[in-house]
Amino acid sequence: MAKVRKQFKLDEEITIERIPEKHCMMCLNQMYTEQKLCNTCRHLPLYIGDWNFKSVNALGIYHKYKQKGYSIPINVLSELILLLKFRKGKKFRTFAGSLIAKGLFKIFEEKRDIYNDVSHVVISPKFKSNEENQVEYILNPFIEILNQNGYDIENLSKRVKRLEDVGRNKEKGFEERFNDINGVHEVRIDDLGHADIIILDDIFTTGSTSWDIARALKERNAGNIHVLVAGRHWLFDEWPINTLYSNGDFSFDYLINYFSRTDYNRDRKKISKVIIIKLDVQENYIYALIKGSRGNYELDVDLDNNILSHSCPDFKNDKKRNKKFCKHISKAFLNIRKGNEKFSSSVLNSIYRELDIWQFDMK
Ligand SMILES: [Zn+2]
Ligand SMILES: [Zn+2]
Repeated sequence: MAKVRKQFKLDEEITIERIPEKHCMMCLNQMYTEQKLCNTCRHLPLYIGDWNFKSVNALGIYHKYKQKGYSIPINVLSELILLLKFRKGKKFRTFAGSLIAKGLFKIFEEKRDIYNDVSHVVISPKFKSNEENQVEYILNPFIEILNQNGYDIENLSKRVKRLEDVGRNKEKGFEERFNDINGVHEVRIDDLGHADIIILDDIFTTGSTSWDIARALKERNAGNIHVLVAGRHWLFDEWPINTLYSNGDFSFDYLINYFSRTDYNRDRKKISKVIIIKLDVQENYIYALIKGSRGNYELDVDLDNNILSHSCPDFKNDKKRNKKFCKHISKAFLNIRKGNEKFSSSVLNSIYRELDIWQFDMK
């Protein structure tokens, strides 16, 4: 089968998937026609009126799939965004933010025609000025890369204020989000002199925040405004991989990285030290015996019944709930690949495509 298209390599090992299917140029919703704008964007409802910005681009799809109360990031990009947003600890945020910034710079270069005259970048401000803004972990390396590559682009974020706390967007409907956020941003510069500006953000859901920031910038005489985000929020509840990526297989490298957690490189170093004592690979069954620090661990992969079971504490206490691999499982798959690359890749693809029905159990 053909490879899944549209990928970005963010560093030696981390690759992300771009938005695979046709989508609306303004709101990034999936579409099934050849048009550039979706029905909503062609006839915008009165409460939106005008998008105020000229383009939206995202690195890929963001979604955390909920199962038994736990979140499963659907792809490598979502994992990075979750690290950025929710993982406590500066090193995780710095790690995720700088990788996302690299990807956004690739879009910037790819679409030079639209970003050619951009001279400023802003991020969405927090209501309380002392509240940590995770998007800064993307913004700072992004500006750094731009400057290193000869683009003279300035950060205007300190001049954009949020005047009101609008509460959590999560519980609100589409129209309510726009109504609530309308008018809450203010730009504290008299005249932007037609400067083109990028609004940078981590997640694009309805676009309401960028829409109001763009309005505030326009009121101060901004030129073209472009929205650049890490993830386009996928809003449906089912496991979306077959819907999103119907064509082509994922590479072994992409999937082993996805299952092993893109967690500040920690697991990658540990994996190389794992010793596999026994490996039995059948057409519909995999068994591995792995050397552990306190006795050996077993791994069973039952491809007929979609059950993966394993016995180490890390799997039991952590990896299992989010359907991730511990270092032992990753190493077993790396060894299977040595013997039969095609098989190892097809097993990972079938687990990934149907991860919602796969059971990750204790042995
Ligand atoms: Zn649209
Ligand atoms: Zn393990």
